[in-house]
Amino acid sequence: MHSQRFVKVGLLHSSTGTMACNEAPLADMLRFEIDKANEAGGLLGCKIVPVEFDPASDWLNYGQYARQMIRDQQVAALFGCWTSTSRKAVLPVVEEEDCLLYYPLDYEGEEQSPNIFYLGATPNQKLFPAIEYLLSAPGGAFDRFFMLGTDFNYPRTINRVLRAFLDAKGLKTLGLPEHYVPFSHRNWDQEIAAIAAFRAGGRGVIVSSIVGDANQDFLAAYHAAGFKAEDLPILGLSLNELDLATLDPAAVKGHYACWNYFMSHDTEGNQAFLRSWQMAAGANRPVCDAMIAARTGFRMWLRAATAAGTTRAATVRQYMFGQTEMGLDGEPVIMGINHHVEMGMSIARARADRRFDIVWRSEEPLRGNPWAAEHIIASTTAVTAQRELLDALPTPLIVIDDDGQLRYRSASTDDYFGRDIAPDYLEALRKAADRAAANGAEGDDPVAEIVVRTPSGELHNLTVVSRRIVFAGVPSRLLSLADVTYIRRIESTLRLMNADLEQLATTDGLTGLANRRHFMQELAARIAQCETSDRPVGVLLIDLDHFKSINDRFGHAAGDKALIETARVLHETLNADCAQQDLVARVGGEEFAVILSASSIEEADRVAERLRACIAAVHFETGGVMVRLSCSVGATLCIAGDSPEATLKRADDGLYAAKRDGRNRVVFRRSA
Ligand code: GH3
Ligand code: MG
Ligand code: MG
Repeated sequence: MHSQRFVKVGLLHSSTGTMACNEAPLADMLRFEIDKANEAGGLLGCKIVPVEFDPASDWLNYGQYARQMIRDQQVAALFGCWTSTSRKAVLPVVEEEDCLLYYPLDYEGEEQSPNIFYLGATPNQKLFPAIEYLLSAPGGAFDRFFMLGTDFNYPRTINRVLRAFLDAKGLKTLGLPEHYVPFSHRNWDQEIAAIAAFRAGGRGVIVSSIVGDANQDFLAAYHAAGFKAEDLPILGLSLNELDLATLDPAAVKGHYACWNYFMSHDTEGNQAFLRSWQMAAGANRPVCDAMIAARTGFRMWLRAATAAGTTRAATVRQYMFGQTEMGLDGEPVIMGINHHVEMGMSIARARADRRFDIVWRSEEPLRGNPWAAEHIIASTTAVTAQRELLDALPTPLIVIDDDGQLRYRSASTDDYFGRDIAPDYLEALRKAADRAAANGAEGDDPVAEIVVRTPSGELHNLTVVSRRIVFAGVPSRLLSLADVTYIRRIESTLRLMNADLEQLATTDGLTGLANRRHFMQELAARIAQCETSDRPVGVLLIDLDHFKSINDRFGHAAGDKALIETARVLHETLNADCAQQDLVARVGGEEFAVILSASSIEEADRVAERLRACIAAVHFETGGVMVRLSCSVGATLCIAGDSPEATLKRADDGLYAAKRDGRNRVVFRRSA
C-alpha cells in the first residue's frame, strides 16, 4: 500500500573528509533503523524519510546544513555530529529553530541544551571509571599519564578535566605531557619521540583523544615504534571495533577502550541484534558504541513521538524524559531529565582477534552528569586544583562563601559580568544561593534565573544552580550559570503567538467585538453566577433592520462599514452607561448580543431602549449618499437554572415579535 504521508528526519554525518571513517557508519545504522521502523508501520501513519547532507568534516557546514534541513526540508528531528565542534555549531541552530538533535558520542560535558539529547557518556561515566581502573591494581596501578589529542575543544577540555580529576586524587599532574596534533595528522615522529622520553621516565598510560582517520594512523605508528601495551598501554577514547576491523590486530592488542557497548557483550539481545544487522549490512560488518548510541537515540525519539502523537519538538521533549531502551549489554539505558542517559559502562582490552575482552563492568548503571565540577571539586581540597578546574571549565562558575563573600569566579564569568560583578548582580546571586540553602534545593535544578546586561550591552538570561563545596577550606556555595537566552527568546515568541491565537479564537475579525463562541461561554459563566447572587442577568439580541438592502443598494463594503459603526455605537453606549460587566458580541451576520448585569426588567429595558435609539441615530456617508440604520431588539432576563440556549431562544422570540410589529423597537420576553 502506498502512503502519501511522510515525516522527514535529518541525518547530519560526514561521508567525506577526516571524520568520514567514524561518522559514515552512524548514518548506515540510522538508515538500518529507519527501514526497520518503516517496516513496522512508520511513525504516526507516516513513512519516515531520511534527508542526508554531507558536511564533509567541516564543522561550519554542520550549523549551516542543520538550518537548511530544519527550514527548507522541515525535518522533524536531527540525528548527527561526532566532534564537539560540530555539535557546538548545531546547538544554537536547534535552540533557535526549536528542533531536537540526538547526539550519539561521549563528550567532554559542560553543556546541557534543552534541544539536544546526549546519548554518549559524560566524563563521570567514561573517563573517570577508566582512569580509576588504570590506577587500580587489576588495571596495572599506573600513575603517569601522557595526554595526546587532536587539536579541538573536546580533547583540550577532557584533558583539563582529567588533570583536575588526578589532582583531586592527590597525584602529581604538573609534569604530565600534553600534546595536540591537527586533524588528519600523518607524520608522528615528534609524538613518538615525546612518548619515548615519557617511557624513559617509567611505566604509564597514553590517554588518546585523537579522532578521525589520524587515529588508526597513530596506532600503526605507535606499534611500529615498538611500544608495548604491557607497560605503556593506550586508553583510546575513540578506539572501537571499527578500528580493530581494519588495523593489524597486533598493533592494537592490549590497548584499552571504555564504552557502554562492545560487540563482545554476551547477551541474547546483542546476538539477535548482530544477526539482523549483519544480515542487512553484510557478514562481519562491525558495530561500535556510537552506532548503538545513534540507534538508541532514534528508537527513543520514535517512541516519544509516538506517545506524544506529534513530532513537535516541545511535545516530544516531554516524552523523552524517562524513555528506556534495553541496552545490548543487558542494562537499561534511561534518558534523564538532564538530557543525558543513565547506562552501564564497561572497560575492555583489544584482543588479537579483532574483538575486545571486557575486563571491568560498572556495578550499577551510571547517571550521566555533564558537570564534571560536581564530581571533582567536592573531593578536591587542593586550592590550586580547584582554581584550575574552575578556570578550565567553560561554564561560568562563581564561589560565594557562607558569609556572602565572593571567593572566586572563573574566567568565563567575565563575558557576562565584566571585570567587576556589579553589586546588584552579586546580591541576586547571593539571594539565589541563600534560597537554595533554605529550600534544601542544592543540586541539579536551577534555583533562580537572572537577567544580566553584558559589558557589550546584550541582555542574557542565566539560570543559577547552587551546590555546596568547601573552597580553600571555607564552606561555600558553587554557583554554576547556564545561558538560557535563546530558549527564553523562543518561549516569549510562543507566548505572543498563543496570545494572538487566543485573541483570534474569541474575537470577531470585522468588528473586534467578542464572537459567538466567546459570548456563549460568557453567558454560561454568568448564568452559573446567578446561582450565588440574586442579581439577574439581562440578555439583548439586536438585529439590524433591512440590512440586506444596504448591501444591495450601496455594496458589501458599505454593509461592512455599517456593521463596524454599529459595533462602535453599541460598545460606546454601554461603556458610557458605566455597565462594566457588560459584554457585547457579534453573534451572526448583522446580529449582535449583549449581556447586561441588570437588576430589574425596567433597568434592562431602559438600556435596550437606549441602544435602539443610538443605533437609530447612526448615519454615515458612503459614495455620496447618507445611510441610516435601525435595529430591532429582543430582550429577556435570565435567572438561576436557565440554560444559555433557553435564554437566547426567549430573546429571539422577542426579536421576532419586534420585527413583526414593525421593526425599530424593543420587545421584552419574561422567563416562565
Ligand atoms: P430584517 O430587517 O428582517 O432583519 O432584514 P435583513 O435584510 O436585515 O435580514 P436578512 O437576514 O434578510 O439579511 C441579512 C443580510 O446581512 C444578508 C447578508 O448578506 C448580510 N450580511 C451578513 N453578514 C454580513 C457581513 O459580514 N457583511 C455584509 N456587508 N453583509 C453581511
Ligand atoms: Mg436584519
Ligand atoms: Mg438577521
